[in-house]
Amino acid sequence: MPSTNLEAFFGLPADVVFCKNCVISNQRPRSTVEFKHATDERKATIGFGADGICEACTYHLKRNTRSAGRTARISWSPCWTSSAASAAMTWSSPAPGGKDSAFTSHVLKYRYGMNPLTVTWAPHAYTEIGWKNFENWIHVGGHDNILFTPNGRLHRLLTRLAFKNLLHPFQPFIVGQRIIGPRMAERFGVELVMYGENQAEYGNASSENYIPTMDRKFFSTDDPTEMLLGGVKIADIIRDHGYTLNDFEPYIPPSAQSLTDAGVEVHYLGYYLKWDPQECYYYASEHTGFRANTERTPGTYSKYSSIDDKIDMFHYFTTLIKFGIGRATYDAAQEVRNGKITRDEAVKLVQLYDQEFPAKFFDYFLEYIDMSPEEFWQTVDSFRSPHLWVKEGDQWRLRHQVT
Ligand SMILES: [Zn+2]
Repeated sequence: MPSTNLEAFFGLPADVVFCKNCVISNQRPRSTVEFKHATDERKATIGFGADGICEACTYHLKRNTRSAGRTARISWSPCWTSSAASAAMTWSSPAPGGKDSAFTSHVLKYRYGMNPLTVTWAPHAYTEIGWKNFENWIHVGGHDNILFTPNGRLHRLLTRLAFKNLLHPFQPFIVGQRIIGPRMAERFGVELVMYGENQAEYGNASSENYIPTMDRKFFSTDDPTEMLLGGVKIADIIRDHGYTLNDFEPYIPPSAQSLTDAGVEVHYLGYYLKWDPQECYYYASEHTGFRANTERTPGTYSKYSSIDDKIDMFHYFTTLIKFGIGRATYDAAQEVRNGKITRDEAVKLVQLYDQEFPAKFFDYFLEYIDMSPEEFWQTVDSFRSPHLWVKEGDQWRLRHQVT
């Protein structure tokens, strides 16, 4: 049956199309935040050109000729002059304290002579290698750091709600991670916040690729109690679970007005410098003692990406279920764009690893979100869109795979 006759959940395109340059499909959502209005956010997926090439590849091909000019600007841009005394830095999603943070902060401090205060929103649960790399970043790389760990009981509840209602267990983490840079900047009188990669590079609206900053309005929320976390209004979580609004302070963004008054600007280093995760890894290994894992991450072939959070692989497992796009697809698509592997190699890696279940961390994840295996699978299966998945006997199979 053609997929167009089958129901597509979340407003996803009914026809599944894969990029001719990389391996990503048109099911990839633009935003991973689902910040204010979950259902609206889900409807925006990555755009494809008439040539069958995805926005991220198109941007990448264009920008390779522009990086040099952007790099030059970093040394004389007025906003740096006004804030050169201290620059706050945070890192790219979803690997806090990983190779991308290490690269970003080290370049700012030692290449551009800034004085960054690094700020970390803690992972749900550090892995052993993740904690070691975090320590090395500070002890070997040589940085000041504030490690912020949100209320663990509340964060576990929010993660559970986000899994149950959105099949997006990382949504509260991503909200916190996005907010903490500007929040801390405001608090410490720092005007420049530098994130690592531009999220747009990985498939947000293509227009966002061509601006170096994050919109301050992104942070605004008119009434915090109306804000959604895990698909539930904060007011309802307070009512049902006995919390107070104070407990949610780390998740409530500063207003655009207060950021404007404080002169806080949020930039992406990836706008100014060529952003290549494998090169970030080499750089971090050399300068900040970053170490790859001894074994590859379940769901992909790499050993150095997103290795610091014990539940990270469940983020990608849920994207596989909702969009048919797992971790190997994201990694391979990026490596094709950066010329590290060919498309044919990428296709093989996706076929080998994309659907691998992270069994090793399953018990830990269930305990973290306080859920039984039955409830886990019931929830997962309820998010399988008919246009993507078909059940054969007791096995689920993806209808479309990259070739
Ligand atoms: Zn592509």
